[in-house]
Amino acid sequence: MVVYWLSKHTAALANIHRKPLALDTLTLRRFHLLLPDVDLSNLRIVSGAWLPAWLFHRSVIGMAYKDRIYASASGSLDTYDSFLLMVHELVHILQIQRLGELRFAGEYGCQFLYAGGYGRKMPLEAEAYGFVDRFCECTFSPRYYASRHLPSLDTAHPNWEYHALSHFLDHGLHSGLASHPAALHQRLTAGSGI
Ligand SMILES: [Zn+2]
Repeated sequence: MVVYWLSKHTAALANIHRKPLALDTLTLRRFHLLLPDVDLSNLRIVSGAWLPAWLFHRSVIGMAYKDRIYASASGSLDTYDSFLLMVHELVHILQIQRLGELRFAGEYGCQFLYAGGYGRKMPLEAEAYGFVDRFCECTFSPRYYASRHLPSLDTAHPNWEYHALSHFLDHGLHSGLASHPAALHQRLTAGSGI
């Protein structure tokens, strides 16, 4: 637990010169579609952040504390990978809202120690990774969706996957457009398993 509070305050201090930004309403709406139970009203993003987790795990690219997400990527977060990273972190924010910050910190710390370090062996991480995995493996495939519904989308464009994803969340999900060969998006949006 000490690690959590230390990390949280270190992250806030180390990134004090970086302005926490609110997300635009369109992006918030897209997140809300995927995670309807998470309260996004105070969510702020700090991009280009220095992450305390780097002290023990260099591959970490994002962290969530209460209602703030720190992402190491700088510049635009409007990419497919950044969006999925945010979804992962939003699952942690949901966990924090569900458990309370104190209990989340305690459980996260215990799981970290019990698992022998950061990773999917920690149930709180398994839930976050699992949610994104299910989305990618069962719900939405950029290539499949684009081939079915956006034939004019230029897949040579570096950000085409994000365009396809945005289109799916803004138009395809409600219209029931086929978005993955597995086509199980109803289950995800029904909120089961998270
Ligand atoms: Zn995580």
